[in-house]
This record gives sequence, C-alpha cells and structure tokens, in this order.
Amino acid sequence: HKQVVLAANPKGMVKETDFRVEETETELVVQPGSNDVAVKLLYISLDPYYRELMAEEDVLGFGLYQIGQPMWGGVVGEVVMSENAEFKTGDIVLGHLKFSEYVIVPKGQGLQKVDASQAPPSYYLGVLGMPGFTAWVGLKLIGKPKNGEQVFVTAAAGAVGQIVGQLAKVYGCRVVGSAGSDEKVKLLKSEFGFDDAINYKEEKDLSASLSKHFPEGIDIYFDNVGGETLDAVFKKVNLNARIALCGAISQYNLLEEERYGMKNLFYAVPKCIQMEGFVVSKFMGEHMQEYVKEMSGYVKEGKVKYKEHVTKGLDQFPGAFVGLMTGQNVGKSVIYV
Ligand code: NDP
Repeated sequence: HKQVVLAANPKGMVKETDFRVEETETELVVQPGSNDVAVKLLYISLDPYYRELMAEEDVLGFGLYQIGQPMWGGVVGEVVMSENAEFKTGDIVLGHLKFSEYVIVPKGQGLQKVDASQAPPSYYLGVLGMPGFTAWVGLKLIGKPKNGEQVFVTAAAGAVGQIVGQLAKVYGCRVVGSAGSDEKVKLLKSEFGFDDAINYKEEKDLSASLSKHFPEGIDIYFDNVGGETLDAVFKKVNLNARIALCGAISQYNLLEEERYGMKNLFYAVPKCIQMEGFVVSKFMGEHMQEYVKEMSGYVKEGKVKYKEHVTKGLDQFPGAFVGLMTGQNVGKSVIYV
C-alpha cells in the first residue's frame, strides 16, 4: 500500500517535490491478543499547520515531520481488523494517523468512534471537527459577539472561514469575508449568507477596501492570514474590538526575512483592542462536546451549510496540499483516499 512521506523541508513556498508518495512494504498484521486495530483510511484532512510541521523549527510543539518518514495528521477511516474490544470491523473512526492507505494503531490509542449515521464521515474533519470547532472558539469564546456587531473574517471560503461567517450570522452580526477569487466571493454571498465579500486580489488597497465595506468599523476580526491584512485591520477597528489570532497563512510560505513587519500595531492601545492567539487543541477537552451538539443542530436545521473540496487518491496529496497553500481549494480540503 501507499504512503505520503516528507521528501524535503520546504524553502519558502511549499512545492510538490517536498513530498513523495511511495509504496511501503509494511505488513498489515494484527497479532491476536495485542489490542491493536487496523484502519483503512477513507479521508485525509488537509490542514495548513502541516506546513509548519514540514519546517525545521517546531513552532507548534507538536513534533516535526522527518525527511523520508511518513507524514501524519487528521484522518477518518474504517476499522478493517481489530483485536480491541472497543472497536469492531466496520466502525468509522477519527484519529491522527500516518498518511498511509492502511495503518495499524497500537492498542487503538487515540482513535475515536464517530457516528456515520449522523453525518458523512468527512464532516468529522470539517464542520463537526477541528476546523469548525476552531471557528467557534475564535468567534464565540474570543470574539464574544454581540447582536449587531461588525465581523470581518479572512480566508473566508475555506474550512474555518465558511463556518466563522455563518456562525456570525447565527449570532446576529453583520459579516464580511475576504477571499481570493470572484468564485469564492460569490459563494460567500449566495451560499453562506455573508452580508458582503471582498476579493482581496482585486481590491489591492486594503485600507480603502475596509473603509468601503465597513462604514461602521470592525468590532471583531477573525484573522486567518496575518501580515498586511491584519496590519490594515488595526486602523479600522472600533473601540474595544476583539481580534482572534487564528492563523497567518500569508506568512507560512515565506522565508523569515520576507515576513511582513507590522506598522499599525500601536493602534491597539488607544482602541483598547483585546487580541488573543489560540491553538484549538487546548479547548477540546472542555468545549468540543458542546460545540458538536450546537453545530449538529445548525447543520440539521440548514442554518449552516458546508462545502468541501475533495481530491481523489492518495497520489494527489502533493498537488492538493500545494493547492491549499495557494488558494485552489474552495471549501474544506480533503483527500478521498
Ligand atoms: P483554508 O481552507 O482556509 O485554506 C487556506 C486558504 O488560505 C486558501 O484557500 C487561500 O484562500 C488562503 N490563502 C493562502 N495564501 C494566502 C495569502 N497569502 N493571503 C491570504 N490568504 C491566503 O484553511 P483552513 O480553514 O484549514 O485554515 C485557515 C487558517 O486557520 C490558517 O491560517 C490555519 O493555519 C488556521 N488554523 C488555526 C487553528 C488554530 O488552532 N489556531 C486550527 C485550524 C486552522 P484565498 O483564495 O482566499 O486566498
């Protein structure tokens, strides 16, 4: 069976040659009495943080991918063999596993059963999983939205952004999203119910663009991109604004000397900005169940819609990941293994 390995630490923009999809000789055996579980991967979640794990400095503290070794991350799969009483053949499970068509999970450790009768398995990698929960943590717990407030979200047509915008509407806010194509802008307004949307590649003067789309200023900024956009936002926020620092994808593929240096951060003082960076895994123990309950309701009622960008075949991993970093994905990017 096949697996995805790290071929090289990227220098600047990630390239397809930084990955290798190769055959592995690893035998698939589940020893009797071992408590082990064999999983056939169904979907791989493509997440921007993999770019940080491909680097040479462990910024996130999750451990780095090693050259020549399999990469790993969020997946859903089906149990195909089990010596573990908690899992039986046919169970659909969520976990952080190697990107390999089949994986033996020692003692089933870290696997979590999901209910495939409630939602398609891939939803547990998106709207009912980590990215959706990220949207909820950043908007609800950090942004503390109040009825009628003005919300801005970047990378708005992606996994996290689409949920941020729709939750903002549920919480009674006016929301404007920014994304990198006319197709995405249209999707935000017609499908996800955003009040307005910006194609940041067309509207290059960020400051003018924000003044135009936010005549009443910004109360909450959900930041997925960092850099120049975040800097422009500092000038346009209202008194007591909240900024949830979720990600900085505009900076991940730059060399250190190329990264954007903030010019407007000092506005944080007179505007009394509350700004908080967060890593979603820290909130899971306390709030994940509450989130899934709330979001399942919205999805069932049709209050929140969900769009996925599905690429078929493990072989396509390198291209799909580069696509995620360059905005080729419309919606949550997953590989159908
Ligand atoms: P997305 O599905 O949004 O995909 C990434 C998108 O980023 C692309 O589609 C592209 O859309 C946009 N993008 C790429 N390069 C740039 C750039 N230079 N400037 C502006 N936009 C760019 O990914 P996710 O929803 O999974 O992740 C969104 C953000 O959330 C990331 O920064 C990620 O690191 C962060 N994150 C943080 C978590 C946390 O715990 N803090 C957890 C999960 C995600 P476009 O066409 O609009 O450019």
